[in-house]
Amino acid sequence: MTTATATLFNYSFEVRKPAPQAHVPVQIKRIVVVGGGTAGWMCAMTLAQALLPKGVEIEVLESPAVGIIGVGEGSTPWLRGFFDKLGIEESEWMPACHATYKCGITFDKWSTKPGFESYFHPFASMLDNLTMTQFVHNVNARVQGADVHAHPNRFFIAARLAAQDMAPKPDQHFPFDVWYGYHFDAVLLGQFLQKKAIERGVKYRSCHVKEVKLGENGDIASVVIDGGETIGADFFVDCTGFAGLLSQQALKTPFLSFSSNLFNDAAVAMPTPIGEDIPSQTISTAMRHGWSWKIPLTERFGNGYVYSSSFCSADEAERELREHLGLLDSDTPARHLKMKVGRVTKHWNRNCLAVGLSQGFIEPLEATALLFIQHTVSTFVEFLEGGDMSEPAKDRYNQRVNEHFEGTRDYIVTHFKTNNRTDTDYWRANASNGNLSEPLQELFRTWLSGRSIVADVTQQKLGKGYPVFSWYCILSGMGIFPESDQMRAPTPKEARYKMTEIDNLLARSALNFRKQKDVLAQIPPKRREDALQIYFW
Ligand SMILES: Cc1cc2nc3c(=O)[nH]c(=O)nc-3n(C[C@H](O)[C@H](O)[C@H](O)COP(=O)(O)OP(=O)(O)OC[C@H]3O[C@@H](n4cnc5c(N)ncnc54)[C@H](O)[C@@H]3O)c2cc1C
Repeated sequence: MTTATATLFNYSFEVRKPAPQAHVPVQIKRIVVVGGGTAGWMCAMTLAQALLPKGVEIEVLESPAVGIIGVGEGSTPWLRGFFDKLGIEESEWMPACHATYKCGITFDKWSTKPGFESYFHPFASMLDNLTMTQFVHNVNARVQGADVHAHPNRFFIAARLAAQDMAPKPDQHFPFDVWYGYHFDAVLLGQFLQKKAIERGVKYRSCHVKEVKLGENGDIASVVIDGGETIGADFFVDCTGFAGLLSQQALKTPFLSFSSNLFNDAAVAMPTPIGEDIPSQTISTAMRHGWSWKIPLTERFGNGYVYSSSFCSADEAERELREHLGLLDSDTPARHLKMKVGRVTKHWNRNCLAVGLSQGFIEPLEATALLFIQHTVSTFVEFLEGGDMSEPAKDRYNQRVNEHFEGTRDYIVTHFKTNNRTDTDYWRANASNGNLSEPLQELFRTWLSGRSIVADVTQQKLGKGYPVFSWYCILSGMGIFPESDQMRAPTPKEARYKMTEIDNLLARSALNFRKQKDVLAQIPPKRREDALQIYFW
Protein backbone atom coordinates (compact mmCIF):
# COMPACT_ATOMS: atom_id res chain seq x y z
CA MET A 1 0.00 0.00 0.00
CA THR A 2 1.25 3.48 -0.74
CA THR A 3 1.29 6.04 2.01
CA ALA A 4 -0.59 8.51 -0.12
CA THR A 5 -0.89 12.06 1.06
CA ALA A 6 -3.38 14.65 0.03
CA THR A 7 -0.94 16.46 -2.20
CA LEU A 8 -0.94 13.40 -4.39
CA PHE A 9 -4.53 14.12 -5.26
CA ASN A 10 -4.26 17.76 -6.06
CA TYR A 11 -2.72 18.88 -9.27
CA SER A 12 -2.28 22.60 -9.00
CA PHE A 13 -2.97 24.29 -12.23
CA GLU A 14 -2.59 27.96 -12.88
CA VAL A 15 -4.93 29.45 -15.42
CA ARG A 16 -2.88 30.75 -18.28
CA LYS A 17 -3.01 34.48 -18.75
CA PRO A 18 -3.49 35.65 -22.35
CA ALA A 19 -0.04 35.82 -23.90
CA PRO A 20 0.23 39.36 -25.34
CA GLN A 21 3.41 38.62 -27.23
CA ALA A 22 2.19 35.36 -28.74
CA HIS A 23 1.58 35.42 -32.48
CA VAL A 24 -1.55 34.17 -34.11
CA PRO A 25 -0.76 32.25 -37.28
CA VAL A 26 -0.95 34.77 -40.13
CA GLN A 27 -3.51 32.73 -42.03
CA ILE A 28 -6.12 33.46 -39.35
CA LYS A 29 -7.63 36.92 -39.69
CA ARG A 30 -11.28 36.08 -39.27
CA ILE A 31 -13.11 33.34 -37.34
CA VAL A 32 -16.79 32.49 -37.74
CA VAL A 33 -18.54 30.65 -34.93
CA VAL A 34 -21.76 28.99 -36.10
CA GLY A 35 -24.16 28.53 -33.18
CA GLY A 36 -25.22 30.75 -30.32
CA GLY A 37 -25.84 28.26 -27.51
CA THR A 38 -23.69 28.11 -24.39
CA ALA A 39 -20.88 26.58 -26.45
CA GLY A 40 -21.00 29.32 -29.08
CA TRP A 41 -20.84 32.17 -26.56
CA MET A 42 -18.32 30.57 -24.20
CA CYS A 43 -16.16 29.95 -27.22
CA ALA A 44 -16.63 33.48 -28.55
CA MET A 45 -15.70 35.00 -25.18
CA THR A 46 -12.52 32.94 -24.87
CA LEU A 47 -11.45 33.57 -28.45
CA ALA A 48 -12.27 37.27 -28.11
CA GLN A 49 -10.07 37.68 -25.07
CA ALA A 50 -7.11 35.99 -26.72
CA LEU A 51 -7.50 37.12 -30.32
CA LEU A 52 -9.37 40.43 -30.62
CA PRO A 53 -6.38 42.38 -29.27
CA LYS A 54 -4.33 40.78 -32.06
CA GLY A 55 -6.68 42.05 -34.73
CA VAL A 56 -8.56 38.83 -35.42
CA GLU A 57 -12.25 39.36 -36.22
CA ILE A 58 -14.77 37.03 -34.57
CA GLU A 59 -18.36 36.68 -35.72
CA VAL A 60 -21.12 34.47 -34.24
CA LEU A 61 -23.96 33.28 -36.51
CA GLU A 62 -27.07 31.97 -34.82
CA SER A 63 -30.19 30.56 -36.42
CA PRO A 64 -33.47 32.19 -35.37
CA ALA A 65 -35.16 28.97 -36.51
CA VAL A 66 -33.18 26.49 -34.37
CA GLY A 67 -33.40 26.96 -30.63
CA ILE A 68 -30.66 26.18 -28.13
CA ILE A 69 -30.89 22.96 -26.12
CA GLY A 70 -31.83 25.01 -23.07
CA VAL A 71 -30.73 22.47 -20.45
CA GLY A 72 -27.37 22.16 -18.74
CA GLU A 73 -27.69 23.72 -15.34
CA GLY A 74 -24.78 22.31 -13.36
CA SER A 75 -21.04 22.91 -13.52
CA THR A 76 -17.74 21.70 -12.15
CA PRO A 77 -15.40 24.09 -10.29
CA TRP A 78 -13.71 24.93 -13.54
CA LEU A 79 -16.46 27.37 -14.46
CA ARG A 80 -15.14 29.59 -11.69
CA GLY A 81 -11.83 29.77 -13.57
CA PHE A 82 -13.70 30.67 -16.77
CA PHE A 83 -15.31 33.76 -15.22
CA ASP A 84 -12.17 34.67 -13.24
CA LYS A 85 -10.11 34.66 -16.39
CA LEU A 86 -12.61 36.89 -18.15
CA GLY A 87 -12.65 39.28 -15.18
CA ILE A 88 -16.38 38.80 -14.52
CA GLU A 89 -17.41 38.87 -10.85
CA GLU A 90 -19.83 36.39 -9.30
CA SER A 91 -21.88 39.33 -8.01
CA GLU A 92 -22.51 40.28 -11.64
CA TRP A 93 -23.13 37.01 -13.45
CA MET A 94 -24.72 34.87 -10.72
CA PRO A 95 -27.86 36.96 -10.08
CA ALA A 96 -28.27 37.47 -13.84
CA CYS A 97 -28.34 33.69 -14.34
CA HIS A 98 -30.30 32.74 -11.15
CA ALA A 99 -27.14 30.91 -10.12
CA THR A 100 -26.38 29.11 -6.87
CA TYR A 101 -23.23 27.64 -5.35
CA LYS A 102 -22.67 23.90 -5.67
CA CYS A 103 -20.67 21.81 -3.16
CA GLY A 104 -20.95 18.60 -5.17
CA ILE A 105 -23.43 15.85 -6.01
CA THR A 106 -25.34 13.37 -3.86
CA PHE A 107 -25.95 10.00 -5.51
CA ASP A 108 -29.06 8.45 -4.00
CA LYS A 109 -30.21 4.86 -4.43
CA TRP A 110 -27.46 3.87 -6.85
CA SER A 111 -26.49 1.07 -4.49
CA THR A 112 -28.62 -1.05 -2.18
CA LYS A 113 -25.70 -2.11 0.03
CA PRO A 114 -26.54 -1.30 3.64
CA GLY A 115 -24.77 1.92 4.64
CA PHE A 116 -23.98 2.79 1.01
CA GLU A 117 -27.45 3.67 -0.33
CA SER A 118 -26.30 7.26 -0.77
CA TYR A 119 -22.97 9.04 -1.07
CA PHE A 120 -21.69 12.50 -1.89
CA HIS A 121 -19.05 13.32 -4.53
CA PRO A 122 -17.50 16.54 -3.21
CA PHE A 123 -15.45 19.13 -4.97
CA ALA A 124 -12.12 18.80 -3.17
CA SER A 125 -10.61 21.79 -1.43
CA MET A 126 -7.49 22.96 0.31
CA LEU A 127 -9.31 22.28 3.55
CA ASP A 128 -9.66 18.63 2.59
CA ASN A 129 -5.89 18.29 2.86
CA LEU A 130 -6.60 17.95 6.59
CA THR A 131 -8.76 14.86 6.15
CA MET A 132 -7.76 13.32 2.80
CA THR A 133 -4.96 11.20 4.28
CA GLN A 134 -7.36 9.71 6.82
CA PHE A 135 -9.94 9.01 4.11
CA VAL A 136 -7.48 7.23 1.84
CA HIS A 137 -5.98 5.33 4.77
CA ASN A 138 -9.37 4.06 5.91
CA VAL A 139 -10.52 3.16 2.41
CA ASN A 140 -7.31 1.22 1.76
CA ALA A 141 -7.73 -0.60 5.07
CA ARG A 142 -11.37 -1.47 4.36
CA VAL A 143 -10.57 -2.78 0.88
CA GLN A 144 -8.24 -5.16 2.67
CA GLY A 145 -11.03 -6.28 4.97
CA ALA A 146 -10.49 -4.08 8.06
CA ASP A 147 -13.77 -2.95 9.60
CA VAL A 148 -13.08 0.80 9.67
CA HIS A 149 -15.35 3.65 8.55
CA ALA A 150 -14.70 4.32 4.87
CA HIS A 151 -17.79 6.02 3.50
CA PRO A 152 -16.69 9.35 1.91
CA ASN A 153 -19.37 11.60 3.40
CA ARG A 154 -17.79 12.06 6.82
CA PHE A 155 -14.38 13.08 5.45
CA PHE A 156 -15.16 16.16 3.38
CA ILE A 157 -16.24 19.64 4.36
CA ALA A 158 -18.29 19.96 1.17
CA ALA A 159 -20.50 17.01 2.20
CA ARG A 160 -21.17 18.60 5.56
CA LEU A 161 -21.97 21.98 4.01
CA ALA A 162 -24.28 20.44 1.42
CA ALA A 163 -26.15 18.49 4.10
CA GLN A 164 -26.94 21.79 5.83
CA ASP A 165 -27.76 23.94 2.75
CA MET A 166 -24.62 26.00 3.38
CA ALA A 167 -22.79 27.89 0.66
CA PRO A 168 -19.17 26.85 0.14
CA LYS A 169 -18.04 30.46 0.71
CA PRO A 170 -16.21 30.80 4.03
CA ASP A 171 -16.04 33.99 6.09
CA GLN A 172 -13.33 36.37 4.96
CA HIS A 173 -10.94 35.52 7.83
CA PHE A 174 -11.11 31.73 7.27
CA PRO A 175 -7.63 30.69 6.07
CA PHE A 176 -8.70 28.04 3.55
CA ASP A 177 -10.31 28.45 0.20
CA VAL A 178 -13.09 25.99 -0.53
CA TRP A 179 -13.59 24.93 -4.08
CA TYR A 180 -17.06 24.81 -5.59
CA GLY A 181 -19.11 24.73 -8.77
CA TYR A 182 -22.38 26.40 -9.71
CA HIS A 183 -25.94 25.76 -10.77
CA PHE A 184 -27.46 28.23 -13.23
CA ASP A 185 -30.25 28.77 -15.73
CA ALA A 186 -28.81 27.66 -19.07
CA VAL A 187 -30.87 30.08 -21.16
CA LEU A 188 -29.96 33.07 -18.98
CA LEU A 189 -26.29 32.07 -19.03
CA GLY A 190 -26.34 32.07 -22.82
CA GLN A 191 -27.99 35.51 -22.89
CA PHE A 192 -25.50 36.88 -20.36
CA LEU A 193 -22.51 35.64 -22.32
CA GLN A 194 -23.96 36.94 -25.58
CA LYS A 195 -24.36 40.43 -24.15
CA LYS A 196 -20.82 40.40 -22.73
CA ALA A 197 -19.29 39.07 -25.93
CA ILE A 198 -20.96 41.72 -28.06
CA GLU A 199 -19.85 44.44 -25.60
CA ARG A 200 -16.30 43.14 -25.95
CA GLY A 201 -16.32 43.40 -29.74
CA VAL A 202 -17.62 40.05 -31.04
CA LYS A 203 -19.86 40.50 -34.10
CA TYR A 204 -23.23 38.80 -34.20
CA ARG A 205 -25.70 37.91 -36.91
CA SER A 206 -29.05 36.20 -36.53
CA CYS A 207 -29.20 34.01 -39.63
CA HIS A 208 -29.74 30.40 -40.61
CA VAL A 209 -26.85 28.58 -42.27
CA LYS A 210 -28.26 26.64 -45.22
CA GLU A 211 -25.13 25.27 -46.76
CA VAL A 212 -21.45 24.77 -45.98
CA LYS A 213 -19.09 25.22 -48.95
CA LEU A 214 -15.77 23.43 -49.14
CA GLY A 215 -12.77 24.80 -51.00
CA GLU A 216 -10.64 22.83 -53.44
CA ASN A 217 -8.31 21.73 -50.65
CA GLY A 218 -11.25 20.29 -48.69
CA ASP A 219 -11.26 23.01 -46.01
CA ILE A 220 -14.42 24.98 -45.28
CA ALA A 221 -14.41 28.05 -47.52
CA SER A 222 -17.69 29.67 -46.52
CA VAL A 223 -21.23 29.20 -45.31
CA VAL A 224 -24.34 30.24 -47.19
CA ILE A 225 -27.12 31.79 -45.16
CA ASP A 226 -30.84 32.39 -45.73
CA GLY A 227 -31.23 34.88 -48.55
CA GLY A 228 -28.19 33.43 -50.33
CA GLU A 229 -25.38 35.55 -48.87
CA THR A 230 -22.03 33.79 -48.60
CA ILE A 231 -20.01 34.34 -45.43
CA GLY A 232 -16.35 33.44 -45.54
CA ALA A 233 -13.68 33.05 -42.86
CA ASP A 234 -10.20 31.62 -42.39
CA PHE A 235 -11.34 29.42 -39.55
CA PHE A 236 -14.75 28.09 -38.48
CA VAL A 237 -16.06 26.88 -35.15
CA ASP A 238 -18.95 24.44 -35.20
CA CYS A 239 -21.21 25.13 -32.21
CA THR A 240 -24.39 23.92 -33.92
CA GLY A 241 -25.28 21.41 -31.19
CA PHE A 242 -26.07 17.76 -31.90
CA ALA A 243 -26.52 18.64 -35.62
CA GLY A 244 -22.74 19.05 -36.08
CA LEU A 245 -23.43 20.96 -39.28
CA LEU A 246 -19.87 21.88 -40.16
CA SER A 247 -17.74 19.21 -38.56
CA GLN A 248 -19.84 16.07 -38.89
CA GLN A 249 -22.10 16.92 -41.84
CA ALA A 250 -19.84 19.00 -44.10
CA LEU A 251 -16.38 17.68 -43.24
CA LYS A 252 -17.68 14.17 -42.56
CA THR A 253 -15.68 13.90 -39.35
CA PRO A 254 -16.43 10.40 -38.02
CA PHE A 255 -18.43 10.11 -34.79
CA LEU A 256 -17.52 7.47 -32.22
CA SER A 257 -20.60 6.40 -30.29
CA PHE A 258 -20.32 5.48 -26.59
CA SER A 259 -23.63 3.62 -26.66
CA SER A 260 -22.05 0.26 -25.84
CA ASN A 261 -20.70 1.74 -22.60
CA LEU A 262 -23.44 4.22 -21.78
CA PHE A 263 -27.03 3.15 -22.52
CA ASN A 264 -28.86 6.42 -21.86
CA ASP A 265 -29.96 8.33 -24.96
CA ALA A 266 -32.95 10.45 -23.92
CA ALA A 267 -34.12 12.82 -21.21
CA VAL A 268 -37.26 14.50 -19.98
CA ALA A 269 -37.08 17.72 -17.97
CA MET A 270 -39.51 19.82 -15.92
CA PRO A 271 -39.19 22.53 -13.26
CA THR A 272 -40.60 22.57 -9.73
CA PRO A 273 -40.87 25.49 -7.30
CA ILE A 274 -38.12 26.10 -4.79
CA GLY A 275 -38.75 26.93 -1.14
CA GLU A 276 -37.10 29.38 1.19
CA ASP A 277 -33.93 27.34 1.80
CA ILE A 278 -31.76 26.89 -1.25
CA PRO A 279 -29.72 23.66 -1.28
CA SER A 280 -26.08 23.73 -2.32
CA GLN A 281 -25.87 20.38 -4.06
CA THR A 282 -27.19 18.51 -7.08
CA ILE A 283 -29.10 15.36 -6.23
CA SER A 284 -28.88 12.46 -8.64
CA THR A 285 -31.37 9.71 -7.83
CA ALA A 286 -31.32 6.31 -9.51
CA MET A 287 -34.68 5.63 -11.23
CA ARG A 288 -36.03 2.48 -12.87
CA HIS A 289 -34.35 3.05 -16.25
CA GLY A 290 -31.81 5.77 -15.59
CA TRP A 291 -31.40 8.57 -13.10
CA SER A 292 -32.94 11.92 -12.28
CA TRP A 293 -31.30 15.25 -11.51
CA LYS A 294 -32.52 17.88 -9.09
CA ILE A 295 -30.74 21.20 -9.41
CA PRO A 296 -31.48 24.20 -7.17
CA LEU A 297 -31.56 27.64 -8.79
CA THR A 298 -32.60 30.82 -7.01
CA GLU A 299 -36.02 30.82 -8.70
CA ARG A 300 -36.85 27.12 -9.18
CA PHE A 301 -35.56 23.56 -9.16
CA GLY A 302 -34.50 22.16 -12.51
CA ASN A 303 -35.40 18.45 -12.69
CA GLY A 304 -34.96 15.82 -15.31
CA TYR A 305 -34.79 12.10 -15.96
CA VAL A 306 -32.01 10.70 -18.15
CA TYR A 307 -32.99 7.25 -19.38
CA SER A 308 -32.41 4.62 -22.02
CA SER A 309 -35.05 4.45 -24.74
CA SER A 310 -34.14 0.78 -25.24
CA PHE A 311 -35.60 0.05 -21.82
CA CYS A 312 -38.50 2.50 -21.46
CA SER A 313 -40.69 4.76 -23.58
CA ALA A 314 -40.83 8.57 -23.35
CA ASP A 315 -44.32 8.32 -21.79
CA GLU A 316 -43.16 5.87 -19.15
CA ALA A 317 -40.19 8.07 -18.33
CA GLU A 318 -42.34 11.19 -18.02
CA ARG A 319 -44.79 9.37 -15.78
CA GLU A 320 -42.03 8.05 -13.53
CA LEU A 321 -40.47 11.51 -13.26
CA ARG A 322 -43.83 13.09 -12.42
CA GLU A 323 -44.37 10.46 -9.76
CA HIS A 324 -40.90 11.07 -8.34
CA LEU A 325 -41.56 14.84 -8.19
CA GLY A 326 -45.11 14.52 -6.89
CA LEU A 327 -46.44 16.04 -10.14
CA LEU A 328 -48.67 13.21 -11.36
CA ASP A 329 -51.74 15.43 -11.41
CA SER A 330 -49.92 18.59 -12.42
CA ASP A 331 -50.03 20.15 -15.89
CA THR A 332 -46.41 21.38 -15.61
CA PRO A 333 -45.14 20.91 -19.16
CA ALA A 334 -42.38 18.37 -19.77
CA ARG A 335 -39.60 18.78 -22.32
CA HIS A 336 -38.41 15.64 -24.08
CA LEU A 337 -34.88 15.50 -25.50
CA LYS A 338 -32.80 13.02 -27.43
CA MET A 339 -29.09 12.66 -26.64
CA LYS A 340 -26.29 11.57 -28.95
CA VAL A 341 -23.61 10.15 -26.67
CA GLY A 342 -20.03 9.84 -27.91
CA ARG A 343 -17.48 12.08 -29.57
CA VAL A 344 -16.06 13.03 -32.93
CA THR A 345 -12.71 11.47 -33.75
CA LYS A 346 -11.19 14.88 -34.55
CA HIS A 347 -12.39 17.92 -32.64
CA TRP A 348 -10.03 20.03 -34.73
CA ASN A 349 -10.41 18.88 -38.32
CA ARG A 350 -8.99 20.94 -41.19
CA ASN A 351 -9.93 24.62 -40.54
CA CYS A 352 -12.79 23.77 -38.22
CA LEU A 353 -13.05 23.27 -34.47
CA ALA A 354 -16.10 21.46 -33.08
CA VAL A 355 -17.13 22.73 -29.64
CA GLY A 356 -20.01 21.73 -27.38
CA LEU A 357 -22.62 19.17 -28.35
CA SER A 358 -21.29 19.15 -31.93
CA GLN A 359 -18.00 17.66 -30.71
CA GLY A 360 -19.64 15.07 -28.49
CA PHE A 361 -21.54 14.54 -25.30
CA ILE A 362 -21.40 12.38 -22.23
CA GLU A 363 -24.60 12.18 -20.20
CA PRO A 364 -24.73 14.94 -17.61
CA LEU A 365 -24.27 12.77 -14.50
CA GLU A 366 -21.26 14.78 -13.34
CA ALA A 367 -22.16 17.98 -15.25
CA THR A 368 -19.00 17.95 -17.34
CA ALA A 369 -20.17 19.41 -20.67
CA LEU A 370 -19.26 23.03 -19.99
CA LEU A 371 -15.86 21.88 -18.80
CA PHE A 372 -15.33 20.16 -22.16
CA ILE A 373 -16.22 23.42 -23.90
CA GLN A 374 -13.73 25.35 -21.77
CA HIS A 375 -11.00 22.75 -22.16
CA THR A 376 -11.52 22.43 -25.92
CA VAL A 377 -11.35 26.17 -26.57
CA SER A 378 -8.61 27.12 -24.13
CA THR A 379 -6.39 24.28 -25.37
CA PHE A 380 -7.04 25.45 -28.92
CA VAL A 381 -5.94 28.98 -28.02
CA GLU A 382 -2.81 27.52 -26.45
CA PHE A 383 -2.01 25.70 -29.70
CA LEU A 384 -2.80 28.79 -31.79
CA GLU A 385 -0.49 30.89 -29.66
CA GLY A 386 2.14 28.22 -30.15
CA GLY A 387 1.85 29.14 -33.84
CA ASP A 388 1.70 25.54 -35.03
CA MET A 389 -1.29 24.55 -37.16
CA SER A 390 0.38 21.54 -38.75
CA GLU A 391 -1.27 18.13 -38.97
CA PRO A 392 0.97 16.69 -36.19
CA ALA A 393 -0.11 19.62 -33.96
CA LYS A 394 -3.75 18.88 -34.71
CA ASP A 395 -3.13 15.20 -33.88
CA ARG A 396 -1.59 16.13 -30.53
CA TYR A 397 -4.50 18.47 -29.84
CA ASN A 398 -7.12 15.88 -30.72
CA GLN A 399 -5.39 13.27 -28.61
CA ARG A 400 -5.57 15.60 -25.59
CA VAL A 401 -9.26 16.32 -26.00
CA ASN A 402 -10.03 12.67 -26.73
CA GLU A 403 -8.23 11.53 -23.58
CA HIS A 404 -10.32 13.97 -21.58
CA PHE A 405 -13.48 12.48 -23.10
CA GLU A 406 -12.39 8.86 -22.55
CA GLY A 407 -11.29 9.43 -18.96
CA THR A 408 -14.57 11.15 -18.16
CA ARG A 409 -16.58 8.45 -19.93
CA ASP A 410 -14.90 5.77 -17.84
CA TYR A 411 -15.71 7.64 -14.64
CA ILE A 412 -19.36 7.94 -15.68
CA VAL A 413 -19.46 4.26 -16.71
CA THR A 414 -18.23 3.35 -13.21
CA HIS A 415 -21.44 4.73 -11.68
CA PHE A 416 -23.46 2.25 -13.70
CA LYS A 417 -21.08 -0.70 -13.62
CA THR A 418 -20.76 -0.72 -9.82
CA ASN A 419 -24.53 -0.61 -9.15
CA ASN A 420 -26.00 -3.65 -7.45
CA ARG A 421 -29.68 -2.93 -8.10
CA THR A 422 -31.71 -5.83 -9.39
CA ASP A 423 -35.13 -4.17 -9.80
CA THR A 424 -35.06 -3.79 -13.59
CA ASP A 425 -33.37 -5.24 -16.66
CA TYR A 426 -31.80 -1.81 -17.14
CA TRP A 427 -29.76 -1.98 -13.93
CA ARG A 428 -28.90 -5.66 -14.41
CA ALA A 429 -27.68 -4.93 -17.94
CA ASN A 430 -25.52 -2.09 -16.66
CA ALA A 431 -23.97 -4.20 -13.90
CA SER A 432 -23.17 -7.04 -16.28
CA ASN A 433 -21.95 -4.81 -19.13
CA GLY A 434 -18.56 -6.09 -20.23
CA ASN A 435 -17.88 -3.25 -22.66
CA LEU A 436 -15.33 -1.50 -20.50
CA SER A 437 -12.12 0.15 -21.58
CA GLU A 438 -8.93 -1.73 -20.77
CA PRO A 439 -7.75 0.95 -18.26
CA LEU A 440 -11.07 0.72 -16.43
CA GLN A 441 -10.95 -3.08 -16.26
CA GLU A 442 -7.40 -2.83 -14.92
CA LEU A 443 -8.49 -0.31 -12.30
CA PHE A 444 -11.28 -2.59 -11.05
CA ARG A 445 -8.85 -5.52 -10.89
CA THR A 446 -6.38 -3.43 -8.90
CA TRP A 447 -9.02 -2.18 -6.48
CA LEU A 448 -10.53 -5.62 -5.86
CA SER A 449 -7.09 -7.10 -5.23
CA GLY A 450 -6.55 -4.53 -2.47
CA ARG A 451 -3.67 -2.73 -4.21
CA SER A 452 -3.37 1.02 -4.66
CA ILE A 453 -5.17 2.48 -7.69
CA VAL A 454 -3.00 5.62 -7.77
CA ALA A 455 -0.78 4.46 -10.63
CA ASP A 456 -3.77 3.13 -12.60
CA VAL A 457 -5.38 6.57 -12.48
CA THR A 458 -2.39 8.85 -12.88
CA GLN A 459 -0.58 6.89 -15.57
CA GLN A 460 -3.59 6.11 -17.71
CA LYS A 461 -6.27 8.09 -19.47
CA LEU A 462 -8.49 7.64 -16.42
CA GLY A 463 -6.63 10.47 -14.69
CA LYS A 464 -7.39 12.81 -17.61
CA GLY A 465 -11.02 12.68 -16.61
CA TYR A 466 -11.07 12.54 -12.82
CA PRO A 467 -8.42 12.78 -10.10
CA VAL A 468 -7.53 9.93 -7.78
CA PHE A 469 -9.63 11.20 -4.89
CA SER A 470 -12.79 11.09 -7.07
CA TRP A 471 -12.10 7.45 -7.88
CA TYR A 472 -11.71 6.77 -4.17
CA CYS A 473 -15.03 8.53 -3.55
CA ILE A 474 -17.04 6.62 -6.12
CA LEU A 475 -15.67 3.17 -5.31
CA SER A 476 -15.97 3.63 -1.55
CA GLY A 477 -19.28 5.51 -1.87
CA MET A 478 -20.78 2.61 -3.83
CA GLY A 479 -19.48 0.24 -1.14
CA ILE A 480 -17.04 -1.71 -3.32
CA PHE A 481 -15.54 -3.44 -0.30
CA PRO A 482 -15.52 -7.02 0.98
CA GLU A 483 -18.95 -8.03 2.33
CA SER A 484 -19.54 -7.21 5.99
CA ASP A 485 -19.42 -10.87 7.05
CA GLN A 486 -15.91 -11.03 5.61
CA MET A 487 -14.68 -8.06 7.63
CA ARG A 488 -12.16 -8.46 10.43
CA ALA A 489 -11.25 -6.21 13.34
CA PRO A 490 -8.73 -3.56 12.27
CA THR A 491 -5.14 -3.64 13.49
CA PRO A 492 -4.14 -0.70 15.74
CA LYS A 493 -2.36 0.85 12.74
CA GLU A 494 -5.42 0.50 10.53
CA ALA A 495 -7.65 2.00 13.25
CA ARG A 496 -5.36 4.90 14.01
CA TYR A 497 -7.71 7.66 12.84
CA LYS A 498 -10.64 8.43 15.13
CA MET A 499 -13.80 9.44 13.28
CA THR A 500 -14.86 11.66 16.19
CA GLU A 501 -11.75 13.79 15.67
CA ILE A 502 -12.59 14.20 11.99
CA ASP A 503 -16.22 14.99 12.84
CA ASN A 504 -15.09 17.64 15.33
CA LEU A 505 -12.63 19.20 12.91
CA LEU A 506 -15.27 19.50 10.19
CA ALA A 507 -17.92 20.71 12.64
CA ARG A 508 -15.57 23.50 13.81
CA SER A 509 -14.72 24.38 10.21
CA ALA A 510 -18.40 24.52 9.26
CA LEU A 511 -18.92 27.32 11.78
CA ASN A 512 -17.20 29.60 9.26
CA PHE A 513 -19.89 29.09 6.63
CA ARG A 514 -23.43 30.42 6.22
CA LYS A 515 -26.67 29.28 4.65
CA GLN A 516 -26.68 29.44 0.86
CA LYS A 517 -29.75 31.71 0.77
CA ASP A 518 -27.99 34.29 3.02
CA VAL A 519 -24.80 34.24 0.98
CA LEU A 520 -26.73 34.63 -2.28
CA ALA A 521 -28.60 37.61 -0.85
CA GLN A 522 -25.28 39.45 -0.75
CA ILE A 523 -22.63 37.70 -2.79
CA PRO A 524 -19.27 38.37 -1.11
CA PRO A 525 -16.37 39.89 -3.03
CA LYS A 526 -13.62 37.71 -4.33
CA ARG A 527 -11.31 36.36 -1.62
CA ARG A 528 -7.58 36.87 -1.72
CA GLU A 529 -7.11 33.09 -2.04
CA ASP A 530 -9.35 33.05 -5.09
CA ALA A 531 -6.74 35.08 -6.86
CA LEU A 532 -4.30 32.19 -6.48
CA GLN A 533 -6.47 30.35 -8.97
CA ILE A 534 -5.58 26.92 -7.70
CA TYR A 535 -7.55 24.19 -9.32
CA PHE A 536 -7.96 20.77 -7.85
CA TRP A 537 -7.80 18.38 -10.67
C1 LIG B 1 -30.55 16.43 -20.77
C2 LIG B 1 -29.28 17.25 -20.76
C3 LIG B 1 -28.80 17.75 -19.56
C4 LIG B 1 -27.61 18.49 -19.53
N1 LIG B 1 -27.10 18.92 -18.34
C5 LIG B 1 -25.89 19.53 -18.30
C6 LIG B 1 -25.32 19.97 -17.09
O1 LIG B 1 -25.88 19.82 -16.01
N2 LIG B 1 -24.11 20.57 -17.13
C7 LIG B 1 -23.45 20.78 -18.31
O2 LIG B 1 -22.32 21.30 -18.30
N3 LIG B 1 -24.00 20.43 -19.47
C8 LIG B 1 -25.18 19.81 -19.50
N4 LIG B 1 -25.73 19.46 -20.70
C9 LIG B 1 -25.03 19.82 -21.93
C10 LIG B 1 -25.25 21.29 -22.23
O3 LIG B 1 -26.64 21.57 -22.30
C11 LIG B 1 -24.58 21.69 -23.53
O4 LIG B 1 -23.26 21.20 -23.53
C12 LIG B 1 -24.51 23.18 -23.67
O5 LIG B 1 -25.76 23.76 -23.52
C13 LIG B 1 -23.93 23.58 -25.01
O6 LIG B 1 -24.83 23.30 -26.04
P1 LIG B 1 -24.43 23.80 -27.48
O7 LIG B 1 -24.20 25.25 -27.42
O8 LIG B 1 -23.32 22.94 -27.97
O9 LIG B 1 -25.70 23.44 -28.37
P2 LIG B 1 -27.15 24.14 -28.46
O10 LIG B 1 -27.60 24.72 -27.18
O11 LIG B 1 -28.03 23.10 -29.10
O12 LIG B 1 -26.94 25.34 -29.47
C14 LIG B 1 -26.86 25.12 -30.86
C15 LIG B 1 -26.83 26.47 -31.55
O13 LIG B 1 -26.57 26.26 -32.92
C16 LIG B 1 -27.44 27.06 -33.68
N5 LIG B 1 -27.66 26.43 -34.98
C17 LIG B 1 -28.04 25.16 -35.24
N6 LIG B 1 -28.18 24.98 -36.56
C18 LIG B 1 -27.88 26.17 -37.13
C19 LIG B 1 -27.85 26.63 -38.49
N7 LIG B 1 -28.17 25.84 -39.51
N8 LIG B 1 -27.50 27.92 -38.71
C20 LIG B 1 -27.17 28.74 -37.70
N9 LIG B 1 -27.17 28.36 -36.41
C21 LIG B 1 -27.54 27.09 -36.14
C22 LIG B 1 -28.71 27.15 -32.86
O14 LIG B 1 -29.47 28.29 -33.22
C23 LIG B 1 -28.12 27.27 -31.45
O15 LIG B 1 -27.83 28.61 -31.19
C24 LIG B 1 -26.92 18.75 -20.75
C25 LIG B 1 -27.44 18.28 -21.95
C26 LIG B 1 -28.59 17.52 -21.97
C27 LIG B 1 -29.10 16.99 -23.27
